Formats: sequence, C-alpha cells, structure tokens
Amino acid sequence: MIIPCFDLSRQYDSIKEEVQKSVNDVFESGRFILGKNVEEFEREFSSYIGVKHGIGVGNGTDALHFALVASGVVLNDEVIVPSYTATPSVLAISHAGAKPVFVDIEPDSYCMDTSLVEKAITKKTKAIMPVHLYGHPVDMKAVMEIAEKHSLKVIEDASQAHGTEYRGKKVGCFGDAACFSFYPTKNLGCFGDGGMVVTNNEKTENSIRLMRNMGQDGKVYHSLSIGFNSRLDEIQAAILKVKLARLDQMNNSRRENAKIYNDILGDSVVTPEEKEYAKHIYHLYVIRTKNRDNVRDFLSKNSVMTGIHYSIPVHLQKAYMKIGPGKGKLPVTEKYVDEIISLPMFPEITGDEIEKVSELVKKVVKS
Ligand SMILES: *Cc1c(COP(=O)(O)O)cnc(C)c1O
Repeated sequence: MIIPCFDLSRQYDSIKEEVQKSVNDVFESGRFILGKNVEEFEREFSSYIGVKHGIGVGNGTDALHFALVASGVVLNDEVIVPSYTATPSVLAISHAGAKPVFVDIEPDSYCMDTSLVEKAITKKTKAIMPVHLYGHPVDMKAVMEIAEKHSLKVIEDASQAHGTEYRGKKVGCFGDAACFSFYPTKNLGCFGDGGMVVTNNEKTENSIRLMRNMGQDGKVYHSLSIGFNSRLDEIQAAILKVKLARLDQMNNSRRENAKIYNDILGDSVVTPEEKEYAKHIYHLYVIRTKNRDNVRDFLSKNSVMTGIHYSIPVHLQKAYMKIGPGKGKLPVTEKYVDEIISLPMFPEITGDEIEKVSELVKKVVKS
C-alpha cells in the first residue's frame, strides 16, 4: 500500500454528498459567475479570518498581484519578500511591475527573518510581503513595526495559512491586505483554481472588485479601470462553503498528526518548530536531514511518497537570476533547500501510516 504525500480522494469520501448537492444547486440555478455563493463565501471567509472584506478572485497569484496594485505598488517599486517561498509570491510582485528584493529566512520557523528586513529597505521600497510558509506565521509584530516606521504597505501571503494564528489572531488580519489561494491541496482547497484577498480597507476592496472583473462595476458594460478577468466562480465558492465549515477540524487533525510525527521522530531529524507566538496548521510537515536524497529514495522504495518544497529558491531560478542577489547571499535558504523533505501530511492520514513513515525515516538516517 502506497502512502501518498497528499490524498484528496480520502477527503472527498467524507464530504461527497454535501458537495454534490451544493454543486448541483449551482447547475440548476444557471448562475455561474459572481452570484450568491461567491458573495456568501466572501462574507464567511473574511469573517473567519476576522477582516471586513473578502474579494474572491481566480487564484492566489492574482490575489497577490491585485492586492499589491490596489495598495499602490507601481512600476519600479521594490517589495521585500523571502526567496524561500513558492514562486508565485514573487511572480505577483513582477506582475505588478515591481522588483522583488529577497531576504533570508529564520533558521527555525522557515519564515522571513524580520531582523533582515530593515537592511533591505531603500528609497524605492513600497511594501513588505511576509509569507506564512508551511502554515507557520511570520513574526507579524516585528513586520508591522518596521512597516509603520518606514511607511510601507504589508501584503500577507497567507496561501498556506488558512487558520494559522499569530498571538491568538488569525493571520490575514495584520497587513493592509492578505491573500489566500484555494488551490486543491491547500488547507482550504477547491476543485480547481480559486483565491481571495481580504482587507479592512474599503478603497482596496473596491479597487480589487473592479480589477477582477475587467474594471467593470456591477453589470454595466463600462470599464472604469483597466481590469483583468479573474473571478472566483460559483461552483468553487459552493464547494468552499462546504469545506470552510470543516476547516478547523481538518487543521486540528493536521496538528495531531504533526504531534505523532514529532513524538516518534524525536531527534533523529530536525522536526518543525512552533514558535511561542504561533499556532501552526501544518500545510506541510517539513523535516531536515543530511543525505536527503538517500532518505527520499529509501522511503520511495518502501512506498512512501515525499516532496521537496521547494528545491530551487526563487533567487536562483532562471527567471530571477538576473536581478540578484546571486548565489551565496542567502545562506540559510541555500543550505536548507538541500536538506528538506515534506513527509506525507493531510487530515485523513492514519496514525499507523505516520508510524510507518516515521520508523522508516529513523531506520534510514541511522544506517
Ligand atoms: C499556492 C501558493 C500561491 C499561489 O496560489 P495559486 O492559487 O496557485 O495561484 C502563492 N503563494 C504561496 C506561498 C503558495 O503556497
């Protein structure tokens, strides 16, 4: 029996009837774009995060792009972002015409090292993009203090952090805007592409409502701004409503699973840390070990699938090599990409499976 890195079919079994009914209701309504499901889900999700407005868009990358533009980021501005992230965090900065300025990560949380942010600020800096990577929060108090001191905008990339908490509050409520992806494998995922921007700022909200819908306000065929076509659709919103009701329970299962891994793995590898200010939701369960490739090979031979998130830091990818800072400048990032392994992690993985994976890891690292 293969233990997959991620298994969506197990989850579908438990929500099948409800999802099929809600999708069928959309089919019968004949309304597929910007209808009541999107409106309701925008309200439900933004209130879950604790923010006034939610704007459903086509995907997480567009959410970030729109949030940057709506926050005033323009051509040749600089945005400070970790290189140790999913590439779309950075692509969105480029889409806005701005230049990503990369900072290294903290050794323990895999998130942006906030002590490096001030040194990266120049006259051109307009915004900071903290990424709550793997489901662990960035130290938002530090980020917000720097932003305030230097009058910078903060756009949170919360694509891996639906329900992550920082000092008891959900991430996504701290910045000028925050962005979520509902890509299928995220902690809250739809059955295709989807995304959302949440913000307390009404101007940002209105600007993104136009941007996602060709610059059009409501049903009038009149573009008020040069917008895009990037909307969350009714079918995805209907599915997301069903899954949002189970999000906390699914995140808690992930936390319990992480605890089982931590207990069995002990010191055999470097297990994930949860900072004192954090509630981690384990979008990914990432360990570090020497001889990473051997460990992955051995697991694969024993039917355990693993992943690497991510194998090439953004600043060393072909698309970004030219803009610097070049090899050697982000030492933690560059060291960790050769040591990380994402072990199987999803709400429905069983204790027996976690035990099997952990025992295999312990066996191979000892040999
Ligand atoms: C998934 C993800 C995105 C992009 O989301 P899409 O919906 O795939 O466009 C952006 N940032 C991070 C950190 C992500 O994990």
